[in-house]
Amino acid sequence: MSFSSTVKNELCRLENMNDCCVLSELAAVVWLNGAAAPVPGDGFNIRITTENAAFARWIYSSIRKYCGIMPEVTIRKSRKLKKHVSYMLFITSAAGSGDLLEKTGMATVTENGRCELVLVRKIDQQSQCCVKAFLRGAFLAGGSISDPEKTYHLELTSRTSEQADELRRLMGFYGLNGRTITRKGSYVTYLKEGENIVDFLNVVGAHRALMELENVRILKGMRNNVNRIVNCETANLGKTVNASVRQVENILYIAENIGLDKLPASLREIAELRLEHKDLNLTELGQMLHPPLGKSGVNHRLRKLDRIAEKHRAGHSDRKEKGAGEE
Ligand SMILES: [Zn+2]
Repeated sequence: MSFSSTVKNELCRLENMNDCCVLSELAAVVWLNGAAAPVPGDGFNIRITTENAAFARWIYSSIRKYCGIMPEVTIRKSRKLKKHVSYMLFITSAAGSGDLLEKTGMATVTENGRCELVLVRKIDQQSQCCVKAFLRGAFLAGGSISDPEKTYHLELTSRTSEQADELRRLMGFYGLNGRTITRKGSYVTYLKEGENIVDFLNVVGAHRALMELENVRILKGMRNNVNRIVNCETANLGKTVNASVRQVENILYIAENIGLDKLPASLREIAELRLEHKDLNLTELGQMLHPPLGKSGVNHRLRKLDRIAEKHRAGHSDRKEKGAGEE
């Protein structure tokens, strides 16, 4: 089952909802998934479409319980994709489509023979429970959420830019900054980043899905940390190896051109140890000295060796150039 279905199924099973909230959620559903068609001389019929079975059941039983209306239900299977099923709930004018709109705070506007559903209900921050319920309805009506293992993405689809504006406004009550893009003639308002999606799931009351998402986030975070540590250690190892190669080159240069026996005892000791143990880091080298020396002490001595070799090379090339000039 997709993560979207998991969240939707959980939301359809929420219990003990306030009456006001059920009607607010229904308003979102009718507004986003409903269509009204005028019946000549006799009001209008309303059709609500959804592809989620649990949600279709929720809409049916809520309309029945809270509006006293029995919608007609048709199930339509797509010919191309046999798994693709959509549920249509039909509320005729005679069955009480007007009551449904009145109870949910909606109305119709008829223009040029077309019937538009409009939201009359004002949704404001004073009735937090109903704002949350409305967003829940919007998610059930046209929302989807990506599998958190893959990516963090949640979106709410709507038909008009006004609907998208309203959804963004309601999300804004909870500090969620949705963005809207158009896709195939629809307005898609989306949230990115795990934290925002967790907040949204919390607002709409999908607490079990929220825990599931948090677990994925923790595991992902741990995996990232492990990768970071491994990368960091690899980088450090690279640095140790590069430094060691340089030190060994310089020590060999000194041995050939100056002689290790010309070095002070402390430098000679570390030079010989470095040649013997090319893969040790400074701390490990220091522990092999008599008496043992700390990392910075070892570094100091190896730097001295570097400088001796560099100075000698520079002087050598100076003499060479001078010599060439004199000839
Ligand atoms: Zn409420």
